[in-house]
Amino acid sequence: MATYLSLNRYLRDIFGERIQKVPLDAGLSCPNRDGTKGIGGCIYCGETGSGTGAHATGQAIREQMRKGQVWAARRYKAKKFIAYFQSYSNTYAPMAVLERIYRQALTGPEVVGMAIGTRPDCIDRDVLKLIERIGKGHMIWMEYGLQSACDATLKRINRGHSVQDFIDAVDLTRQFGFPVCAHVIFGLPGEDTSQMKQTIELLADLRIDGIKFHQLYVETGTRLHTLYSLGKYKPISLEQYAELVAWSVSRLPRNTVIHRLTGDPRRSRLAAPGWSLKKQDILNAICERIEA
Ligand code: SF4
Repeated sequence: MATYLSLNRYLRDIFGERIQKVPLDAGLSCPNRDGTKGIGGCIYCGETGSGTGAHATGQAIREQMRKGQVWAARRYKAKKFIAYFQSYSNTYAPMAVLERIYRQALTGPEVVGMAIGTRPDCIDRDVLKLIERIGKGHMIWMEYGLQSACDATLKRINRGHSVQDFIDAVDLTRQFGFPVCAHVIFGLPGEDTSQMKQTIELLADLRIDGIKFHQLYVETGTRLHTLYSLGKYKPISLEQYAELVAWSVSRLPRNTVIHRLTGDPRRSRLAAPGWSLKKQDILNAICERIEA
């Protein structure tokens, strides 16, 4: 048996049943793409900003929630849900827009919580107050992309924020009592094992509430794809990735909730590494190492 606290188990312990996250695309942008922080975004960012692309097809948040709930009820027999704002930076919009989309997401007694993915430099006291007000009575998770605890790496991948921005965001969010899930990427250009471990050391020191692990994969059409095509970027191997995730799980506090063990690229957009599509093989490789 793997010895880590998965998101499923954590939610089941609290709610007594399966809770399914419904991914949402609010069609917001990102300050790292529109020129406020940078242009073009992170070098690996694809056209949908790691999201579903549902907004571009004209689906409002309520419609996306309804469809997601129907799908999850069929697939997992789930009856309760967490609205998950996944695409782009989901706190980067005027307050009135944020209020509208969060309210739409939290409609109905079957929606027990909300998870909001955003950049650590896109959060402030006013937005957190809004989330506190709208989210009353619901479980709230704030998800911040750290990716690496090395500022030189963040610069190299054009993140447009610093490690300190992440630490400040965690501090501020904790003042509101919301748990924070950190997003981390292994295999970033120029990083060796010790730098990747340094990221986990920081999160362990912060006693981070939750974490999502991703391998860096190359999406077609991104700047990373250009580097890869020129032979200037070599993806991480499955073995190294599995070793690092297993080590990280052992290093983090036992009550850190593991939201994700691997990224999920779209087959049609993936250039490399091919093993990214073999989700079960990746999970097996990680779990074998965790149990060893
Ligand atoms: S912060 Fe997220 S949405 Fe913005 S450019 Fe980077 S990966 Fe894309």
